[in-house]
Amino acid sequence: MRELNGIGVSRGIAIGRVHRLAPSELDIRQYQIERKNVLHEVARLNNAFSLVRTELDTLHRGVGNDAPSEVRAFLDLHRMILDDSMLCDAPRDLVRQKLINAEWALTIQLEHVCDQFEAIDDEYFRSRSQDVRQVVERVLKALAGGETATMPVVRKPADGERVVLVAHDLAPADILHLKDRADLDLAGFVTELGGATSHTAILARSLGVPAVLGLADVRSIAQEGDLVIVDADQGRLIIDPSAEELAAYRDRVKKGAEERAELRKLKGRIARTKDGIAIDLLANIELPGDARDALEAGADGIGLFRTEFLFMNRDQLPDEDEQFEAYAKVARAMKGKPVVIRTLDVGADKVLNAVARDSLGFAAGAPTVESNPALGLRAIRYCLVYPELFLTQLRAILRASSVGTVRILVPMLAHVHEIDSALAFVARAKEQLKERKHKFDARVPMGGMIEVPAAALSLPAFVKRLKFLSIGTNDLIQYTLAIDRADSSVSHLYDHLHPAVLQLISRTIKTGEKSRVPVSICGEMAGETEVTELLLGLGLKQFSMHPSQILAVKQRVLETSRRSAIQLASRVMRTADPIEIRKTLNRSAARSAAARTA
Ligand code: PEP
Ligand code: MG
Repeated sequence: MRELNGIGVSRGIAIGRVHRLAPSELDIRQYQIERKNVLHEVARLNNAFSLVRTELDTLHRGVGNDAPSEVRAFLDLHRMILDDSMLCDAPRDLVRQKLINAEWALTIQLEHVCDQFEAIDDEYFRSRSQDVRQVVERVLKALAGGETATMPVVRKPADGERVVLVAHDLAPADILHLKDRADLDLAGFVTELGGATSHTAILARSLGVPAVLGLADVRSIAQEGDLVIVDADQGRLIIDPSAEELAAYRDRVKKGAEERAELRKLKGRIARTKDGIAIDLLANIELPGDARDALEAGADGIGLFRTEFLFMNRDQLPDEDEQFEAYAKVARAMKGKPVVIRTLDVGADKVLNAVARDSLGFAAGAPTVESNPALGLRAIRYCLVYPELFLTQLRAILRASSVGTVRILVPMLAHVHEIDSALAFVARAKEQLKERKHKFDARVPMGGMIEVPAAALSLPAFVKRLKFLSIGTNDLIQYTLAIDRADSSVSHLYDHLHPAVLQLISRTIKTGEKSRVPVSICGEMAGETEVTELLLGLGLKQFSMHPSQILAVKQRVLETSRRSAIQLASRVMRTADPIEIRKTLNRSAARSAAARTA
């Protein structure tokens, strides 16, 4: 038995036999060519590019309507990279000028493009060089194999076990190709490359495939046909497990499947505590297509539409009409259920492309370089510095209110004057729409996010001005505990059970209740079943989370009574040590689980 640790980028456990994908560092032959062979070499390049183009297009056409929205987006991105002149034209010029073979020209250009990406001081952009490598690798395979397809060939193990792929790197197109093969029965995969923000990771998460990335040298350690366990929950790969370990994991897989089947039965149930308090379970979404996942999970509405994803990874920002279409699509899909649309939260870890940023012009007060972006110009601060950007978005959101139940949510408020400014912008956007004779609901409410301690400590002024509050615990924890939420070296200190965080949450819920201003939580904490009972006990009635968490939280709501939740909350709020708090919560959850299975 041998165990390797990497980055678990999705959830779940996969058990299967190793299939190692051919090494990705292809044997690239480099040689000079004679001038008379230039045309032949260029033709080889053209044929290889068109073979890969056809393969990606075929995969794209085969993507079902029910596939997660990322699937098409990643294929589109790889198709765009393939057609970029930096990759498809430049190597042809290199062949002509330097009289070198196609493979050599392509790899020279690849390194040139990747160097440019890797020089960018931003993890998201740096990891895009991985996409470029994946595309080029596919073209190199096409060059090596002539007319043969570049997709990996995998066979199902003879003993009927499922397959665990072990690869240096795995492109989104490969995952899709292999996941679709019913005869193959792909259980999960592990790779040597890749981090939590790679497209490989995002796709594994949205397809629900257990995956561990960043396992250096795994291809030389795991042998073809080895039985392995991919524990994506803990980022572990267990090679050749002991009989006891294998049995324990097989049991977990079986129980996991049974639990998911049980949860699916709850889809149509209304979320009420045992003593009859109705709880709203809402969904967080990032793109209009995600509304389908929300409906599928039985969400009571959208509690957070993170609109910045419509603005990122593009050079031309969406205009009012494009935004209106996106917001209206969600509002229509939700058929009258509430849709909370958050105004642009760019800055810090969510950045606009440089070209898009430049298109906004130079705003007075906007820094060119930020030394501390999480404390810098982000969210509402950004919108107030770029009034046209803000007004355009507000008009688009307001127009969407003519086709559904829409609410406006403003992120990162810390000062009362920011609320007043945002309200003035909403009033101005309404006037503009009236002048332009656009329809909208004049009563669209504006709420604010509580994600900065200053906001949670100035609640009376906030509830006087805002129609609802939404606690963004992801940032509230970051700013309360002074932990950069994206810095893995301090992630062990990022704790939602820290008493300071719980105090701020409790205050916000209580103040909202007293002033009759509805309060929700839309940070990750809302989807953590570990704290559902505690939050119910603190008086929370609206939880907004990733759609995949809704049924699990509903189960906890259904088996909790408000009375016992209040007792639990008051015990927790008297405890100073997060370790003790966690023990108390776990004991209570274990009692519920025992009652469920009894
Ligand atoms: C939060 O901070 O909790 C939140 C929901 O916003 P985001 O994660 O998008 O910053
Ligand atoms: Mg936030």
